Amino acid sequence: MSTSLWDQLEPLLARVEKPARYIGCEDGAIEPEYTDGVVSWLLTYPDTYEIGLPNQGLQILYEILNERNDAVAERSYAPWTDLEAEMREHNLPLFSVDTHRPARDFDVIAFNLSSELVYTNVLNCIDLAGVPIRAEDRDHTHPIVGAGGHATFNPEPMAAFFDWVGLGDGEEIVGDVTAVVKAWKDSGSTDREEVLREMSKIQGVYVPSMYTPSFEEGVTDTPKLVAMTPRFSDVPEVVEKRTVADLADWPYPKNQLVPLTEVVHDRLSVEVFRGCTRGCRFCQAGMITRPVRERPAEQVRQMIQDGVRRTGYDEVALTSLSTADFSGIVDVVKATIDDEEMGCGDVSVSLPSLRVDAFTVDIAAELQRGRRSGLTFAPEAGTWRMRQVINKLITEEDLYASVEGAFSQGWRRVKLYFLTGLPTETDEDTLGIAELGRKCVEIGRKYTNAASVTVSVGGFVPKPFTPFQWFGQNTIEELNRKIYLLRDEVKKTKGLQMKWHDPKATFVEGMLTRGDRRLGPVIEQVWREGGTFQEWSEHFDVEKWDQAMADAGLPIEFFTYRHREEDEVFPWDHLNAGLHKDFLWHDWRDALNEVGLEDCRWTPCYDCGACTGYGIEHVVASATPPAGGSQGTGQDLARGHEVPVDLLARPSLSTA
Ligand code: SF4
Repeated sequence: MSTSLWDQLEPLLARVEKPARYIGCEDGAIEPEYTDGVVSWLLTYPDTYEIGLPNQGLQILYEILNERNDAVAERSYAPWTDLEAEMREHNLPLFSVDTHRPARDFDVIAFNLSSELVYTNVLNCIDLAGVPIRAEDRDHTHPIVGAGGHATFNPEPMAAFFDWVGLGDGEEIVGDVTAVVKAWKDSGSTDREEVLREMSKIQGVYVPSMYTPSFEEGVTDTPKLVAMTPRFSDVPEVVEKRTVADLADWPYPKNQLVPLTEVVHDRLSVEVFRGCTRGCRFCQAGMITRPVRERPAEQVRQMIQDGVRRTGYDEVALTSLSTADFSGIVDVVKATIDDEEMGCGDVSVSLPSLRVDAFTVDIAAELQRGRRSGLTFAPEAGTWRMRQVINKLITEEDLYASVEGAFSQGWRRVKLYFLTGLPTETDEDTLGIAELGRKCVEIGRKYTNAASVTVSVGGFVPKPFTPFQWFGQNTIEELNRKIYLLRDEVKKTKGLQMKWHDPKATFVEGMLTRGDRRLGPVIEQVWREGGTFQEWSEHFDVEKWDQAMADAGLPIEFFTYRHREEDEVFPWDHLNAGLHKDFLWHDWRDALNEVGLEDCRWTPCYDCGACTGYGIEHVVASATPPAGGSQGTGQDLARGHEVPVDLLARPSLSTA
């Protein structure tokens, strides 16, 4: 049992901004019991407390681990730069916020890896913990360092730094990892490779050091990857992701944390389903979380009732990739805002991901009985042609009907999310964004002179395990050209605003998301040069990334802007997200031919591979399919289910 670092930390807190980030003590926090032989986990979110605290994945695992007899779990978040400077000056290591235990004393440090731009923060946290940043330099006295989250579906750029990563749902993985680590600890073994090799046999666990990459030989330019080969015969050639078949078995978090300070999404969150079959071709989250698994509506109601009564929250977010697709949505929303039924007082409901169609108007009407905020829709592209390419099959009529519904019900602000830099995109498609926005303002003005429409534009990043994984990303210059073209058009309409994401950050995200192990030294160099908090516009520095790529002799064109061939071996081909590669390839060809693909709930199965082995029967619904594609925050949902409309507006956004 180690001692708390609180006495050393407390004097430093008076010198830093937002000391409440580091004190813990939230309602719902768990005081862990360190009995003999338990495996201790430090669940770490590699960004600030206010972004990490609401993360549902981390809170779920925190509870599940602490309910076990053989494990305990605490939490940690990346210290902001002011506290980090104090910690380094006073030799204070990374600590948990629950008991302020040194990170180095935990058996396992596990990171939530929701986006690529946090990679340098991961290295910083490992270093602050007093642990060697490279896995090969660690011995049996060091914690076992791992990660989970959507970015682990191509963990290769971070392969040198992680002992293991979890693919897919974590609920069962953490139990299996605990059992293996406990057996290793109990055996008294000092052979670290032994425990890692054992972990590599757990479904959903990938141990990078158990695989050797090979590259093309005799190539003068940058050679391509040709294979990832297991080093031992008992290590799987392909690592399958882990999927929880029935969400009803996992009603977590049961005791959502209530922070003492302001955080993003400061509300009760209840996950209503995982997976999405709408098939938006840009959306990694929709692809890698298949198959769809709904939580029973009665359980959702119970979780809301218990959560509201315990936490005192007066806002509930129903989270998923496309919440309006939840079959119990109307009943759950009605029950929640009907105080007599729920007995929870005046509670409002927010749906972070709304589909764009007439059905949404019904939901908006229900929500209006609670408090209202701005409504957000994500058509993602400005023309029908472009929306067919990306398989976001929303017609203009769908969008206008939804926007009309919102304004007619009394909303005054509407946000529309779009991507630019999509495959086959022309200037006509880009300018179509302004035209959609202009017409939405026109609709709003029928109801109020204060009607305001904001188009928010992000640069498209082709992601692993999507049909667009073969596409060469637009350059920074091309994205800037499109954004300025659009900005000039948007300025012509009063009541229409535009925000956009910095194309330089889009470039770095794109380079990392499809990279291989050769990018490890690049990430390390950027971190050593002080490049942390790269998701934050005030800290993001593209020059550090350019310099590190140049120093490593790696061409940006090869990793970011190059179109891939059909038979290209991807750095993630030895990992299986459940999707057949040939399904993705054919979907890519359909995209180029502007052919949309209906949601498989309304059609025969396309055999994408996701349902295989889960006993999930494919049911062709008898009702008429609702029009419209899944809404959500599109590509940005790849950063996590509950993420964020507001969070997205934080880093690297400019306003015209
Ligand atoms: S396997 Fe068939 S039913 Fe299941 S998600 Fe894929 S296309 Fe849909």
